[in-house]
Amino acid sequence: MNKRNTVTAALPYANGPVHIGHLAGAYLPADIYVRYLRSLGKEVLFICGTDEHGVAITLKARKEGLTSQQVVDKYHLQIRESFQQFGISFDVFSRTTHDLHHQTAAGFFRKFYDEGKFIEKETDQYFDPEAGQFLADRYIIGTCPKCDFDKAYGDQCESCGTSLSPSDLKSPRSALSGATPILKPTKHWFLPLDQYQKALEHYVLDNHQDWKPNVYGQCKSWLIGDGLQPRSMTRDLDWGVKVPVEGADGKVLYVWFDAPLGYITATKEWAIQKGDPDAWKKYWLKEEANGETSLVCFIGKDNIVFHCLIFPAILMGHGDYILPDQVPANEFLNLEGQKISTSRDWAVWLHTYLEEFPGQADVLRFVLASTMPETKDNDFTWKDFQARNNNELLAIYGNFVNRVLVLTEKYFHRQVPENLKPEAQDDHLRQLIRVTAENAGKSIEQYRFREALATVMDLARAGNKYLADLEPWKLWKSDPDRVASILLTALEVSSALSVLFEPFLPETSHKLNQMLGIARFNWNDLLHAKTLVFPGHPLGEIALMFQKIEDDTIQAQIRKLEARSAEIQQEQGLTKSVVQPQKDLIDFESFSKMDIRTAKILEAIKVPKADKLLQLKVDTGLDQRTIVSGIAEYFKPEEIIGQEVLVLVNLAPRKLKGIESQGMILMAEGPDGRLYFVKGSAEIPSGMSVR
Ligand SMILES: [Zn+2]
Repeated sequence: MNKRNTVTAALPYANGPVHIGHLAGAYLPADIYVRYLRSLGKEVLFICGTDEHGVAITLKARKEGLTSQQVVDKYHLQIRESFQQFGISFDVFSRTTHDLHHQTAAGFFRKFYDEGKFIEKETDQYFDPEAGQFLADRYIIGTCPKCDFDKAYGDQCESCGTSLSPSDLKSPRSALSGATPILKPTKHWFLPLDQYQKALEHYVLDNHQDWKPNVYGQCKSWLIGDGLQPRSMTRDLDWGVKVPVEGADGKVLYVWFDAPLGYITATKEWAIQKGDPDAWKKYWLKEEANGETSLVCFIGKDNIVFHCLIFPAILMGHGDYILPDQVPANEFLNLEGQKISTSRDWAVWLHTYLEEFPGQADVLRFVLASTMPETKDNDFTWKDFQARNNNELLAIYGNFVNRVLVLTEKYFHRQVPENLKPEAQDDHLRQLIRVTAENAGKSIEQYRFREALATVMDLARAGNKYLADLEPWKLWKSDPDRVASILLTALEVSSALSVLFEPFLPETSHKLNQMLGIARFNWNDLLHAKTLVFPGHPLGEIALMFQKIEDDTIQAQIRKLEARSAEIQQEQGLTKSVVQPQKDLIDFESFSKMDIRTAKILEAIKVPKADKLLQLKVDTGLDQRTIVSGIAEYFKPEEIIGQEVLVLVNLAPRKLKGIESQGMILMAEGPDGRLYFVKGSAEIPSGMSVR
């Protein structure tokens, strides 16, 4: 490992709050990595800030009735606060609207321009003749050629998800004035990426086979085949870094030209704040870094091409800068089996999570670190969240530490006991501390954070087993000296766990240190098998590190997510295409075995202790029978009395919560996952066959 580490996390876009997908994608892995490096005593600078330029900001401003500046001010603050609350330990959190950044980005552009490193080209672009300005793709609205949704954007239809270009739209119109856009020539400056092709191939394909397969593979697919094409580094827009050359009025830098340079600006800002304005240079400039600085950029997979090809091309074109050594991009995190979607509000937002789980930022860090989409997309579910909290954090780590502290308080008046009767088992466990530090460290250095966390949890597991095997609570009467040695060893392991879990669970480690009454040790201490607790040392107050999460809490989260998402979809008039593929063919005989009848609901009551179930009395025409139906989330009992329904009457009876259900009400599942009755008709009496 290099002596000095410049670590960046993708600049979050300041047009909305951040959610669990962001945290698991870039910020949490970066924070774990940085905390580990600090614990090793490495020189490290952790850099981030908000990306505040681009079309999406101006669109958000129009939507919210704010100025672009007000939008970025609002979300910069909110995002910064969320990261603080989740312990993401940036050394600097800047923003790209700072003057200093405009100077940095414009300086890069001007140097390229002066040295003739851009190609000037005129192209035709959509223009709003009434508003008198060029239109970015998102500013053009029209009818989707695929699904006829009449509010599709020039780059994508939000209803059917198809990628579009403005010329695909039927009856296109400007989002600004409603006018029909016309094509008009405009001049832009292109970075000739084709000229960097060879250098980029050498940089990535020859020298960075160590990159994660998903990152390397994506770069390769961009590089081979048709190869790289010149890409415009300017846009016709009134929000961004002004293009610093003559004849470029109304033009700004392309957001992907300016945003990655934000890392450099942020480092300059950090240096100025600490009163040493040149201190940024050794983190970025080849000459000052002297081969001792490694640059690691944490990003999500949607940013791979920008960080692995375009940003390096810009740095190469400049010539004075080091290039990224590692770009550990994660894949995407899904939520309850569906893609996280800001527009549908299908997300767990960081700022609302803490309102409902106060003081439990570490629980979310733990669950996300355990399920991080390191090599493929992964799924966050509330059930899994509950299980990991209850079965791992609480039952393994929390339980071990709590037992050790409670027993020490009980037998040794809250003082670290003497090593009165050591045995071989104690040494085995102590050795496991060093081995765990080595192995977990290796995993972190290879960006395998899930593996590292599992290794650390295994030490807590070994601690639990040690106590369960030796049963000090049974030995106390007969052999108190042995109990002293056991608890001393267990306290040593507890202290080590505080160090090893710190990159993952910083707040918990802080709490644990207070309970142990110890100073902060670091990873190196463990690697060198340094003693962490000393006999006679007083312990602090015992407090619980984790709380059990109940079923109700989890159900409430799932319901909230579904309700909010359905509401948004209704507002936006979106229909999601969730038509399931056809099932396997069946013969007529199989079908005719099903006895479906028209029926009517006579009574409905909630089933106690079951969130989803209603107990119904149904008139089937044949009889009046009891049916238990999983519709309580969608219907109040009183609403459905008298409802005409269809019932599968010859379904074998089964017991639900102790009630025998004799048949099944047929329901249709809506696109939002909600259930709807398949209605019979008031004109048909109950008991008629449905064929
Ligand atoms: Zn469509």
